[in-house]
Amino acid sequence: MGIKGSRELVQNVLQAGMCIGCGACVELCPYFRHYKGRTLQVFPCDLESGRCFAFCPKIEVDLDALSRRLRGCAYEGLDLGVYRSIRAARAGAALPKASFQGGGTVSALMAFALGSGVTDAAVLTDREGAWPLPRIVTDAQDVLACASSKFTAAPTLQALNRAVRLGHQRLGMVGTPCQVTAAAQMKGGLASQEDFRDPVALTVGLFCNWALDPRALNAFLGERVDLDRVTGMDIPPPPAEVLVVRLGEESREISLQEVRPLIPETCRLCPDLTSEWADLSVGMFEGRPGWNTLIVRTDRGGDLVRAAEEAGYLELEPMPEENTAHLAEAGRTKKERAFRTALRENAVNRENGCSVLRLPAEVVDRLT
Ligand SMILES: Cc1cc2nc3c(=O)[nH]c(=O)nc-3n(C[C@H](O)[C@H](O)[C@H](O)COP(=O)(O)OP(=O)(O)OC[C@H]3O[C@@H](n4cnc5c(N)ncnc54)[C@H](O)[C@@H]3O)c2cc1C
Repeated sequence: MGIKGSRELVQNVLQAGMCIGCGACVELCPYFRHYKGRTLQVFPCDLESGRCFAFCPKIEVDLDALSRRLRGCAYEGLDLGVYRSIRAARAGAALPKASFQGGGTVSALMAFALGSGVTDAAVLTDREGAWPLPRIVTDAQDVLACASSKFTAAPTLQALNRAVRLGHQRLGMVGTPCQVTAAAQMKGGLASQEDFRDPVALTVGLFCNWALDPRALNAFLGERVDLDRVTGMDIPPPPAEVLVVRLGEESREISLQEVRPLIPETCRLCPDLTSEWADLSVGMFEGRPGWNTLIVRTDRGGDLVRAAEEAGYLELEPMPEENTAHLAEAGRTKKERAFRTALRENAVNRENGCSVLRLPAEVVDRLT
Protein backbone atom coordinates (compact mmCIF):
# COMPACT_ATOMS: atom_id res chain seq x y z
CA MET A 1 0.00 0.00 0.00
CA GLY A 2 2.87 2.44 0.83
CA ILE A 3 2.65 5.85 2.48
CA LYS A 4 -0.41 7.84 1.45
CA GLY A 5 -1.58 11.32 2.36
CA SER A 6 -4.02 13.01 4.71
CA ARG A 7 -7.03 12.21 2.48
CA GLU A 8 -6.59 8.48 3.19
CA LEU A 9 -5.76 9.20 6.84
CA VAL A 10 -8.93 11.21 7.39
CA GLN A 11 -11.10 8.65 5.64
CA ASN A 12 -9.67 5.49 7.23
CA VAL A 13 -8.70 6.74 10.69
CA LEU A 14 -10.50 9.95 11.72
CA GLN A 15 -13.84 9.30 10.02
CA ALA A 16 -13.70 5.56 10.73
CA GLY A 17 -13.49 6.13 14.50
CA MET A 18 -10.01 4.58 14.61
CA CYS A 19 -8.12 7.66 15.88
CA ILE A 20 -6.72 7.29 19.41
CA GLY A 21 -5.74 10.97 19.59
CA CYS A 22 -2.02 10.33 20.19
CA GLY A 23 -1.03 13.63 18.54
CA ALA A 24 1.43 12.11 16.03
CA CYS A 25 -0.16 14.04 13.13
CA VAL A 26 -0.53 17.31 15.05
CA GLU A 27 1.94 20.23 14.77
CA LEU A 28 3.66 18.66 11.74
CA CYS A 29 1.77 21.03 9.45
CA PRO A 30 -0.94 23.69 9.93
CA TYR A 31 -3.75 21.30 8.96
CA PHE A 32 -4.24 18.94 11.91
CA ARG A 33 -5.31 20.16 15.36
CA HIS A 34 -6.14 18.42 18.61
CA TYR A 35 -8.83 19.85 20.82
CA LYS A 36 -10.08 18.23 24.04
CA GLY A 37 -9.73 14.60 23.03
CA ARG A 38 -10.45 14.92 19.30
CA THR A 39 -8.04 15.26 16.37
CA LEU A 40 -9.41 17.30 13.49
CA GLN A 41 -8.26 18.31 10.04
CA VAL A 42 -9.01 22.03 9.78
CA PHE A 43 -8.09 22.45 6.06
CA PRO A 44 -7.75 19.84 3.33
CA CYS A 45 -4.25 19.04 2.06
CA ASP A 46 -3.56 17.41 -1.29
CA LEU A 47 -0.09 15.94 -0.69
CA GLU A 48 -0.02 12.40 -2.10
CA SER A 49 2.06 11.11 0.80
CA GLY A 50 2.73 12.68 4.17
CA ARG A 51 4.24 12.23 7.60
CA CYS A 52 0.74 12.30 9.14
CA PHE A 53 0.00 8.99 7.41
CA ALA A 54 3.50 7.55 7.87
CA PHE A 55 3.55 8.14 11.66
CA CYS A 56 -0.06 7.22 12.53
CA PRO A 57 -0.21 4.11 14.73
CA LYS A 58 -3.64 3.18 13.40
CA ILE A 59 -3.04 2.78 9.67
CA GLU A 60 -0.69 0.57 7.66
CA VAL A 61 1.42 -0.27 10.70
CA ASP A 62 3.89 -2.77 9.26
CA LEU A 63 5.03 -4.78 12.28
CA ASP A 64 7.52 -6.80 10.27
CA ALA A 65 9.15 -3.68 8.82
CA LEU A 66 9.35 -2.12 12.31
CA SER A 67 10.87 -5.26 13.76
CA ARG A 68 13.49 -5.55 11.02
CA ARG A 69 14.42 -1.86 11.31
CA LEU A 70 14.47 -1.60 15.12
CA ARG A 71 15.26 -5.15 16.25
CA GLY A 72 17.09 -6.58 13.25
CA CYS A 73 14.79 -9.60 12.96
CA ALA A 74 11.42 -10.64 11.53
CA TYR A 75 8.23 -9.99 13.53
CA GLU A 76 7.29 -13.23 15.28
CA GLY A 77 4.48 -12.04 17.53
CA LEU A 78 6.44 -12.83 20.72
CA ASP A 79 4.33 -12.38 23.87
CA LEU A 80 6.40 -9.45 25.19
CA GLY A 81 8.25 -8.47 22.01
CA VAL A 82 12.04 -8.68 21.72
CA TYR A 83 13.86 -7.91 24.97
CA ARG A 84 17.17 -8.38 26.80
CA SER A 85 16.08 -8.63 30.44
CA ILE A 86 13.19 -8.11 32.85
CA ARG A 87 13.83 -6.76 36.35
CA ALA A 88 11.96 -5.42 39.35
CA ALA A 89 12.73 -1.70 39.74
CA ARG A 90 11.89 1.41 41.71
CA ALA A 91 13.23 4.93 42.07
CA GLY A 92 16.39 5.16 44.19
CA ALA A 93 17.25 7.57 46.99
CA ALA A 94 18.78 10.14 44.58
CA LEU A 95 15.30 11.02 43.27
CA PRO A 96 13.08 13.18 45.50
CA LYS A 97 9.76 11.51 46.32
CA ALA A 98 6.64 12.48 44.34
CA SER A 99 3.22 10.98 43.71
CA PHE A 100 4.47 8.17 41.49
CA GLN A 101 2.01 5.71 40.03
CA GLY A 102 4.08 2.71 41.11
CA GLY A 103 7.75 2.68 42.07
CA GLY A 104 8.63 5.88 40.21
CA THR A 105 10.89 4.00 37.79
CA VAL A 106 9.73 6.05 34.79
CA SER A 107 10.30 9.38 36.55
CA ALA A 108 13.70 8.21 37.81
CA LEU A 109 14.79 7.23 34.29
CA MET A 110 13.59 10.47 32.73
CA ALA A 111 15.10 12.67 35.47
CA PHE A 112 18.43 10.84 35.25
CA ALA A 113 18.48 11.00 31.42
CA LEU A 114 17.95 14.78 31.55
CA GLY A 115 20.45 15.37 34.35
CA SER A 116 23.18 13.29 32.68
CA GLY A 117 22.73 14.86 29.23
CA VAL A 118 21.45 11.69 27.52
CA THR A 119 18.41 13.80 26.60
CA ASP A 120 18.02 17.57 26.17
CA ALA A 121 14.26 17.59 26.87
CA ALA A 122 11.52 15.08 27.62
CA VAL A 123 7.98 14.82 26.31
CA LEU A 124 5.65 13.83 29.14
CA THR A 125 1.97 13.90 30.09
CA ASP A 126 0.71 16.16 32.86
CA ARG A 127 -2.92 16.60 33.92
CA GLU A 128 -5.48 19.38 34.21
CA GLY A 129 -8.26 17.82 36.29
CA ALA A 130 -9.13 14.66 34.34
CA TRP A 131 -7.68 15.98 31.03
CA PRO A 132 -4.22 14.78 29.95
CA LEU A 133 -1.84 17.59 29.05
CA PRO A 134 1.24 17.06 26.82
CA ARG A 135 4.35 18.84 28.12
CA ILE A 136 7.95 19.46 27.13
CA VAL A 137 10.13 19.44 30.24
CA THR A 138 13.82 20.10 30.74
CA ASP A 139 14.51 19.43 34.43
CA ALA A 140 13.87 16.87 37.16
CA GLN A 141 11.41 19.11 39.00
CA ASP A 142 9.08 19.15 36.00
CA VAL A 143 9.54 15.40 35.48
CA LEU A 144 8.24 14.90 39.04
CA ALA A 145 5.31 17.22 38.38
CA CYS A 146 4.23 14.91 35.51
CA ALA A 147 4.47 11.70 37.60
CA SER A 148 1.44 9.36 37.84
CA SER A 149 -0.79 7.79 35.19
CA LYS A 150 -3.57 9.61 33.41
CA PHE A 151 -5.71 6.65 32.34
CA THR A 152 -6.90 8.28 29.15
CA ALA A 153 -5.54 8.44 25.63
CA ALA A 154 -3.34 11.54 25.40
CA PRO A 155 -2.03 13.75 22.55
CA THR A 156 1.53 13.48 23.93
CA LEU A 157 3.16 13.28 20.48
CA GLN A 158 1.90 16.75 19.63
CA ALA A 159 4.51 17.95 22.15
CA LEU A 160 7.12 15.74 20.51
CA ASN A 161 6.50 17.37 17.12
CA ARG A 162 6.64 20.81 18.78
CA ALA A 163 9.90 19.93 20.57
CA VAL A 164 11.49 18.93 17.25
CA ARG A 165 10.39 22.27 15.75
CA LEU A 166 11.92 24.05 18.76
CA GLY A 167 15.26 22.46 17.87
CA HIS A 168 15.63 19.72 20.50
CA GLN A 169 17.84 16.96 19.12
CA ARG A 170 18.01 14.39 21.91
CA LEU A 171 14.47 13.95 23.10
CA GLY A 172 13.19 11.54 25.69
CA MET A 173 9.57 10.46 25.49
CA VAL A 174 7.23 8.44 27.68
CA GLY A 175 4.21 6.89 26.02
CA THR A 176 1.63 4.16 25.82
CA PRO A 177 2.08 1.41 23.17
CA CYS A 178 0.23 3.36 20.45
CA GLN A 179 2.33 6.47 21.10
CA VAL A 180 5.52 4.42 21.16
CA THR A 181 4.53 2.76 17.86
CA ALA A 182 4.09 6.20 16.29
CA ALA A 183 7.45 7.35 17.68
CA ALA A 184 9.04 4.17 16.26
CA GLN A 185 7.58 4.98 12.85
CA MET A 186 8.97 8.52 13.14
CA LYS A 187 12.46 7.00 13.44
CA GLY A 188 12.24 5.97 9.81
CA GLY A 189 11.55 9.54 8.62
CA LEU A 190 10.25 9.76 5.06
CA ALA A 191 12.16 8.64 2.00
CA SER A 192 11.85 12.22 0.70
CA GLN A 193 13.63 13.70 3.75
CA GLU A 194 17.28 13.20 2.81
CA ASP A 195 18.58 15.18 5.80
CA PHE A 196 16.48 13.20 8.34
CA ARG A 197 18.08 12.63 11.75
CA ASP A 198 16.14 10.79 14.47
CA PRO A 199 15.51 13.40 17.20
CA VAL A 200 14.38 10.82 19.78
CA ALA A 201 17.24 9.59 21.96
CA LEU A 202 15.21 7.58 24.47
CA THR A 203 11.77 5.98 24.44
CA VAL A 204 10.24 4.71 27.67
CA GLY A 205 7.02 2.81 27.00
CA LEU A 206 4.27 2.06 29.50
CA PHE A 207 2.38 -1.21 29.76
CA CYS A 208 -1.21 -0.62 28.69
CA ASN A 209 -4.21 -2.87 28.14
CA TRP A 210 -6.43 0.05 27.25
CA ALA A 211 -6.84 3.79 27.78
CA LEU A 212 -10.12 5.64 28.27
CA ASP A 213 -11.58 8.19 25.87
CA PRO A 214 -10.82 11.51 27.63
CA ARG A 215 -14.03 13.17 26.41
CA ALA A 216 -16.17 10.26 27.52
CA LEU A 217 -14.35 10.06 30.87
CA ASN A 218 -14.80 13.78 31.58
CA ALA A 219 -18.51 13.57 30.75
CA PHE A 220 -18.89 10.43 32.90
CA LEU A 221 -16.92 11.77 35.88
CA GLY A 222 -18.56 15.19 35.61
CA GLU A 223 -21.83 13.59 36.72
CA ARG A 224 -20.19 11.96 39.74
CA VAL A 225 -17.41 14.22 41.09
CA ASP A 226 -16.21 17.82 40.96
CA LEU A 227 -13.78 17.61 38.00
CA ASP A 228 -11.71 20.56 39.27
CA ARG A 229 -10.87 18.50 42.37
CA VAL A 230 -9.42 15.47 40.52
CA THR A 231 -5.79 15.02 41.57
CA GLY A 232 -5.10 11.47 40.40
CA MET A 233 -6.38 8.04 39.41
CA ASP A 234 -5.46 4.44 40.01
CA ILE A 235 -6.54 1.03 38.81
CA PRO A 236 -5.43 -1.34 41.58
CA PRO A 237 -4.53 -4.91 40.51
CA PRO A 238 -7.22 -7.64 40.34
CA PRO A 239 -9.44 -8.63 42.05
CA ALA A 240 -10.25 -4.97 42.94
CA GLU A 241 -12.06 -4.18 39.61
CA VAL A 242 -12.32 -0.46 40.36
CA LEU A 243 -11.07 2.88 39.07
CA VAL A 244 -10.01 4.99 42.05
CA VAL A 245 -10.46 8.73 41.50
CA ARG A 246 -8.41 10.83 43.93
CA LEU A 247 -9.87 14.15 45.04
CA GLY A 248 -7.12 15.58 47.23
CA GLU A 249 -7.28 13.71 50.54
CA GLU A 250 -10.50 11.91 49.57
CA SER A 251 -11.06 9.28 46.93
CA ARG A 252 -13.98 7.72 45.11
CA GLU A 253 -14.17 4.16 43.73
CA ILE A 254 -16.01 3.45 40.50
CA SER A 255 -16.62 -0.08 39.23
CA LEU A 256 -14.59 -0.99 36.14
CA GLN A 257 -17.79 -2.42 34.70
CA GLU A 258 -19.14 1.13 34.48
CA VAL A 259 -15.85 2.45 33.09
CA ARG A 260 -15.16 -0.15 30.36
CA PRO A 261 -17.72 1.31 27.91
CA LEU A 262 -15.46 4.42 27.84
CA ILE A 263 -12.63 2.45 26.15
CA PRO A 264 -12.35 3.55 22.50
CA GLU A 265 -13.08 0.81 19.95
CA THR A 266 -9.65 1.38 18.41
CA CYS A 267 -7.93 -0.08 21.52
CA ARG A 268 -9.41 -3.49 20.63
CA LEU A 269 -7.12 -3.66 17.60
CA CYS A 270 -3.93 -2.94 19.54
CA PRO A 271 -1.74 -6.07 19.87
CA ASP A 272 0.87 -4.53 22.16
CA LEU A 273 0.65 -4.74 25.97
CA THR A 274 4.20 -3.74 26.84
CA SER A 275 5.28 -1.01 24.36
CA GLU A 276 7.43 -3.39 22.34
CA TRP A 277 9.14 -0.72 20.23
CA ALA A 278 10.51 1.27 23.19
CA ASP A 279 14.08 1.22 24.53
CA LEU A 280 12.68 0.46 27.99
CA SER A 281 9.18 -0.62 29.01
CA VAL A 282 7.71 -0.10 32.48
CA GLY A 283 4.53 -1.38 34.14
CA MET A 284 3.21 -2.22 37.57
CA PHE A 285 4.56 -5.12 39.61
CA GLU A 286 1.46 -7.08 40.56
CA GLY A 287 1.61 -8.15 44.20
CA ARG A 288 4.46 -5.80 45.13
CA PRO A 289 3.22 -2.24 45.65
CA GLY A 290 5.88 0.46 45.31
CA TRP A 291 7.79 -1.49 42.65
CA ASN A 292 7.65 -1.68 38.86
CA THR A 293 8.35 -4.26 36.19
CA LEU A 294 11.17 -2.99 33.93
CA ILE A 295 11.91 -4.50 30.50
CA VAL A 296 15.22 -3.62 28.85
CA ARG A 297 15.02 -3.90 25.06
CA THR A 298 17.99 -2.04 23.56
CA ASP A 299 21.65 -1.22 24.25
CA ARG A 300 20.86 2.43 24.89
CA GLY A 301 18.12 1.38 27.33
CA GLY A 302 20.47 -1.04 29.11
CA ASP A 303 23.25 1.57 29.35
CA LEU A 304 20.86 4.10 30.88
CA VAL A 305 19.54 1.61 33.45
CA ARG A 306 23.08 0.65 34.52
CA ALA A 307 24.17 4.28 34.85
CA ALA A 308 20.97 5.27 36.71
CA GLU A 309 21.50 2.43 39.19
CA GLU A 310 25.13 3.45 39.79
CA ALA A 311 24.04 7.05 40.38
CA GLY A 312 21.41 5.97 42.95
CA TYR A 313 18.42 6.91 40.76
CA LEU A 314 17.25 3.33 40.39
CA GLU A 315 17.05 0.22 42.57
CA LEU A 316 16.94 -3.12 40.79
CA GLU A 317 16.11 -6.66 41.85
CA PRO A 318 15.59 -9.92 39.97
CA MET A 319 12.10 -10.56 38.63
CA PRO A 320 10.55 -13.81 39.89
CA GLU A 321 9.96 -16.25 37.03
CA GLU A 322 6.28 -16.68 37.82
CA ASN A 323 5.71 -12.93 37.41
CA THR A 324 7.40 -12.96 33.99
CA ALA A 325 5.28 -15.96 32.97
CA HIS A 326 2.10 -14.22 34.10
CA LEU A 327 3.02 -11.05 32.19
CA ALA A 328 3.82 -13.10 29.07
CA GLU A 329 0.41 -14.72 29.26
CA ALA A 330 -1.25 -11.30 29.46
CA GLY A 331 0.84 -10.14 26.47
CA ARG A 332 -0.23 -13.19 24.43
CA THR A 333 -3.89 -12.74 25.35
CA LYS A 334 -3.85 -9.13 24.15
CA LYS A 335 -2.25 -10.13 20.83
CA GLU A 336 -4.65 -13.01 20.21
CA ARG A 337 -7.64 -10.79 20.93
CA ALA A 338 -6.37 -7.95 18.70
CA PHE A 339 -5.48 -10.18 15.74
CA ARG A 340 -8.84 -12.01 15.94
CA THR A 341 -10.67 -8.67 16.00
CA ALA A 342 -8.53 -7.36 13.12
CA LEU A 343 -9.31 -10.45 11.03
CA ARG A 344 -13.02 -10.16 11.74
CA GLU A 345 -13.00 -6.49 10.76
CA ASN A 346 -10.86 -6.99 7.65
CA ALA A 347 -8.21 -4.72 9.19
CA VAL A 348 -5.13 -6.89 8.74
CA ASN A 349 -3.12 -7.55 5.54
CA ARG A 350 -5.84 -6.23 3.22
CA GLU A 351 -5.14 -6.71 -0.44
CA ASN A 352 -7.17 -3.67 -1.49
CA GLY A 353 -7.33 -0.50 0.54
CA CYS A 354 -5.75 0.44 3.86
CA SER A 355 -5.09 -2.05 6.64
CA VAL A 356 -4.66 -1.14 10.28
CA LEU A 357 -1.93 -3.76 10.69
CA ARG A 358 0.41 -5.64 8.38
CA LEU A 359 2.38 -8.65 9.60
CA PRO A 360 3.45 -12.07 8.39
CA ALA A 361 0.38 -14.23 7.67
CA GLU A 362 1.86 -17.18 9.57
CA VAL A 363 1.99 -15.09 12.78
CA VAL A 364 -1.69 -14.18 12.38
CA ASP A 365 -2.53 -17.86 11.77
CA ARG A 366 -0.54 -19.01 14.81
CA LEU A 367 -2.12 -16.48 17.17
CA THR A 368 -5.76 -16.67 16.09
C1 LIG B 1 -3.51 4.55 29.91
C2 LIG B 1 -2.58 3.71 30.76
C3 LIG B 1 -2.88 2.35 30.95
C4 LIG B 1 -2.00 1.55 31.71
N1 LIG B 1 -2.26 0.21 31.86
C5 LIG B 1 -1.39 -0.58 32.54
C6 LIG B 1 -1.63 -1.98 32.67
O1 LIG B 1 -2.61 -2.53 32.14
N2 LIG B 1 -0.71 -2.73 33.38
C7 LIG B 1 0.42 -2.17 33.94
O2 LIG B 1 1.21 -2.87 34.56
N3 LIG B 1 0.64 -0.84 33.82
C8 LIG B 1 -0.22 -0.04 33.14
N4 LIG B 1 0.04 1.30 33.00
C9 LIG B 1 1.32 1.83 33.50
C10 LIG B 1 1.29 2.19 34.96
O3 LIG B 1 0.10 2.84 35.29
C11 LIG B 1 2.48 3.10 35.31
O4 LIG B 1 2.49 4.21 34.43
C12 LIG B 1 3.81 2.40 35.16
O5 LIG B 1 3.84 1.26 35.97
C13 LIG B 1 4.98 3.32 35.56
O6 LIG B 1 4.91 3.60 36.91
P1 LIG B 1 5.94 4.64 37.56
O7 LIG B 1 5.70 4.71 39.02
O8 LIG B 1 7.31 4.29 37.09
O9 LIG B 1 5.46 5.97 36.83
P2 LIG B 1 5.66 7.56 37.21
O10 LIG B 1 7.09 7.68 37.71
O11 LIG B 1 4.59 7.94 38.12
O12 LIG B 1 5.57 8.20 35.81
C14 LIG B 1 4.44 8.05 35.00
C15 LIG B 1 4.78 8.59 33.63
O13 LIG B 1 3.72 8.24 32.74
C16 LIG B 1 3.47 9.31 31.84
N5 LIG B 1 2.04 9.25 31.53
C17 LIG B 1 1.01 9.34 32.38
N6 LIG B 1 -0.15 9.19 31.75
C18 LIG B 1 0.13 9.04 30.46
C19 LIG B 1 -0.66 8.86 29.29
N7 LIG B 1 -2.00 8.80 29.35
N8 LIG B 1 -0.03 8.75 28.10
C20 LIG B 1 1.33 8.80 28.03
N9 LIG B 1 2.12 8.94 29.11
C21 LIG B 1 1.53 9.06 30.30
C22 LIG B 1 3.86 10.59 32.59
O14 LIG B 1 4.38 11.51 31.68
C23 LIG B 1 4.93 10.10 33.58
O15 LIG B 1 6.21 10.38 33.07
C24 LIG B 1 -0.84 2.13 32.29
C25 LIG B 1 -0.58 3.50 32.11
C26 LIG B 1 -1.44 4.29 31.34
C27 LIG B 1 -1.11 5.75 31.14
